[in-house]
Amino acid sequence: MGNVFKGAKRVVIKIGSALLVDQSAGTVRRDWLAALSKDVAMLRARGAQVLIVSSGSIAAGRRHLGLQNRGLKLEEKQAAAATGQITLAHAYQESLAAEGFTAAQILLTPGDTEERRRHLNARATILQLLSLGAVPVINENDTVATAEIRYGDNDRLAARVATMVSADTLVLLSDIDGLYTADPRKDETAKHLPVVDRLTPEILAMAGNVAVSAERGGFSTGGMVTKLEAAKIALGGGCRMIIARGNDPHPLQALVDGARCTVFTAPEKPVAARKRWIAGQLNASGTLVVDKGAAEALANGKSLLPAGVVRVDGAFERGDPVNVAGPDGNRLAVGLTAYSSTDAEKIVGRQSKEIADILGFEGRSALIHRDDLALLSDTGKTGRSTEKDLSQPVA
Ligand code: GLU
Repeated sequence: MGNVFKGAKRVVIKIGSALLVDQSAGTVRRDWLAALSKDVAMLRARGAQVLIVSSGSIAAGRRHLGLQNRGLKLEEKQAAAATGQITLAHAYQESLAAEGFTAAQILLTPGDTEERRRHLNARATILQLLSLGAVPVINENDTVATAEIRYGDNDRLAARVATMVSADTLVLLSDIDGLYTADPRKDETAKHLPVVDRLTPEILAMAGNVAVSAERGGFSTGGMVTKLEAAKIALGGGCRMIIARGNDPHPLQALVDGARCTVFTAPEKPVAARKRWIAGQLNASGTLVVDKGAAEALANGKSLLPAGVVRVDGAFERGDPVNVAGPDGNRLAVGLTAYSSTDAEKIVGRQSKEIADILGFEGRSALIHRDDLALLSDTGKTGRSTEKDLSQPVA
């Protein structure tokens, strides 16, 4: 198969605990991480932005607290994560700095990707970090996430992150080089699948047959089941997903050189998926009526600035879906608003630079950023939620 990173512009790499942390010593595998950082530099040199979703906080933290490596209670895991995350952050900071990159730590809880308002905040910060050249290093905020409200595994967290930032490629580094029809360690007839174009029930059923051995250790929760759940999320967000073996140094370079892996192809581009998701929001709670100039600017792919809005109808909160209507009342677009209706009413018709003075806080310059706006002319007015919308936040 050709180079899996061809055309990749924004890549999320998920690193499992078993790869990063020596399971018996509980220490970070520094040499492996140094090689991985070189691989990150290789992707950056190819013109891709890179984000890392890293597990390992619990595995790296337990020894500081004298905890065994099996059978930890939830609160012990959370305590271990609190100390281990510091170790991880240092390790990434040092290894990435050796390649000339600034590491930026982000710890997420499900609300940050699932609630629209917080999703917009997390997305804006991560995109800002990427545009400033940093490498975001992301994990679940294990210390405060509780049993009921956790992602629980970083495969799905990585997929949520990938769709949140409109990544085009997600790589799950694991101890197995892809999806097999059965467990290759137990069944000689097991076949490796290099490409999966559709997540059929047959494909999903294969996950049950294959456990990911090293990850059955004390700290990681990922197996093939969560990997395929991650695929559902990623593909729905227009992001292709790759399962690859990460045990040896330079796993990403190995992929460039043609190492075996499974590529799950995405049916559409991330931007199209995001616009479709926004257009599919059926519960718009208000309308922003815009003037002719703003209507033209929107048609040209621009953001909606307060200056072009003449009226605010309805009551909504930041992050809610709202309709955008032209001067004649025709619905032009659906977007996720950066301001509540109360604040929007105060700033409409005004210049973006006046916002801070009017509202008393520094907000976004656009009322609806172009990434958060779906023109009905572009999306075919589908307005239907499909199962693909699982990839996007829902509340
Ligand atoms: N967030 C957990 C950690 O850093 C790992 C979750 C997982 O293994 O998928 O230890």
